[in-house]
Amino acid sequence: MADPTEPHTNEPARTADTTPARTGGAAPDGGKKEPGLLGQLFAPVAGFGVTFGTMFRKVPTQEYPEVKRPTATRYHGRHQLNRHPDGLEKCVGCELCAWACPADAIYVEGADNTDEARFSPGERYGRVYQINYLRCIFCGLCIEACPTRALTMTNEYEMADSERAPLIYEKHQLLAPLRPDMLTPPFPMAEGMEERDYYQGKVTGSTSGQRDYVEQREARRSEAEADAEARS
Ligand code: SF4
Ligand code: SF4
Repeated sequence: MADPTEPHTNEPARTADTTPARTGGAAPDGGKKEPGLLGQLFAPVAGFGVTFGTMFRKVPTQEYPEVKRPTATRYHGRHQLNRHPDGLEKCVGCELCAWACPADAIYVEGADNTDEARFSPGERYGRVYQINYLRCIFCGLCIEACPTRALTMTNEYEMADSERAPLIYEKHQLLAPLRPDMLTPPFPMAEGMEERDYYQGKVTGSTSGQRDYVEQREARRSEAEADAEARS
């Protein structure tokens, strides 16, 4: 039974520890083992053993930027704003990516699509889209938050610069390049298709109606530019 006069404690009772590890590594007889004759001879240069050993190992240096090492497949690099198969933008300007970003690196301004100028199949599109790569920590939370898979990350990592301003990427730098069957927005949705059809994969490329629309739009723009040049 415990002595009521002893102070209460949860610690185990301490006993004298006389193991070599607790007494500074000294052997029980109190003396360190002396090196032999060979050990004494090489003692002054023993530290160079590491140096000599390293000299004959394979050199891991990469000759960057001449030789670029491929990244891991799922490496988090520069962001990309994706397009639907006809070229319309997937971004609907909802700003969820900006709210999800822990570094406050994304700035989005949405705007309404109109019949005259449609950039995405939905009601809204991302009119302004910026990512500040001075802040981004490449965590990928923004791409998780995106409801339309408009935002993904590429494997590109060469984004260094000596100025600050070029590291704030604008929408035109982030938009995915146009593939051969894609058109440059704005243009109407594919004939007979609704917004949901785009997300159900029913649109597989641009239609003849969309191509005609873009051709006429470009022709009108060229005419207007020619008129403006003639007047000036
Ligand atoms: S990767 Fe992370 S830090 Fe960079 S923009 Fe997306 S959420 Fe923000
Ligand atoms: S990238 Fe995605 S989350 Fe961000 S504004 Fe566009 S649709 Fe919304």
